[in-house]
Amino acid sequence: MATRTPLIAGNWKMNLTHLEGIALVQKISFTLPEKYLKHVEVAVFPPFTALRSVQTLIEADKIDFKYGAQDVSAHDSGAYTGEISGIQLSKLGCTYVLVGHSERREYHHETDEQLAKKVNAAYKHGLIPMLCVGEGLEIREAGNQVAYSVNQLLAGIADVTPEQAESLVLAYEPVWAIGTGRVATPADAQEVCAALRVALAGKYGQETADKIRILYGGSVKSGNVAEICAQTDVDGALVGGASLDGTEFATLAANA
Ligand code: PEP
Repeated sequence: MATRTPLIAGNWKMNLTHLEGIALVQKISFTLPEKYLKHVEVAVFPPFTALRSVQTLIEADKIDFKYGAQDVSAHDSGAYTGEISGIQLSKLGCTYVLVGHSERREYHHETDEQLAKKVNAAYKHGLIPMLCVGEGLEIREAGNQVAYSVNQLLAGIADVTPEQAESLVLAYEPVWAIGTGRVATPADAQEVCAALRVALAGKYGQETADKIRILYGGSVKSGNVAEICAQTDVDGALVGGASLDGTEFATLAANA
C-alpha cells in the first residue's frame, strides 16, 4: 500500500491583503519547526491578489510550503472578465488549485460539468486540482452523504486519466461543518473518505486509488486534527478559519 504524506492546506478565502498574507506565511514558517515538514506537507491558498507576494517570499526565503489558487477558469484565455486561467497560475508557481469548493458551488452555481472542465484545465496547465465534494445538512440527515459525495467525485473526474489521477487531491467537506464549528466525527469523515477511495479504485484500480490523498475539511483546529487524520482514509485537512492564525495553523500542521 502506498504511503501518503499528509497534506495540511489552508484556504484563506477572501481574507487578507497581500501584505497580511506575507506576514501570515512568515508567522507560520517561524512557528512550525522544520522537522515537521518531513512528515507533513503544508500548502496555502491565498486570494489571487496575494499569490505573487507569497510566491516571492517562499522562493526568497526557501520556505518549504506549497501554494495554490482558490479557483481556476475552465478557459485558457480570452473574453472572460474577472477569470484567472491555469496558464496564469502555473506561471505564478502554483502547485495546486481548489476546484468546486462548496462556496463556489453555492454562491456561483458551479455545476459538476463546469467543475470537470476546471479539473481538466488544471491538469492541462500542470496544476494539481484539489477537488472538493461534500453534502449539505439535508442530505446528511437523509443518510445519503456517501452516494452524494461519490457522485460529485465521479462527475468532477469524468475526463481524468489514470496517470493524471495519481496526483489528484480530494477534499471531503460536509457543507454543514464548514465555518460552523460543527465538526464531523472521525468516523463520519472516515465513512465518506473510504467510500471515495473505493470509487477511485473502481475507476482507476486500487494501486492508483491508494496514491490519492483525500483530505477532510470542516471546522478543523489544532485540537481535533490528530484524531481526524488518524483515520485510515483521511490524509490531511483542508482548513478555513484556523488557517488565518499563524500560530494555530502551525500547531495544527504539527499535530496532524
Ligand atoms: C473550508 O472553507 O474549506 C473550511 C473547511 O472552512 P472551516 O475550516 O472554517 O470550516
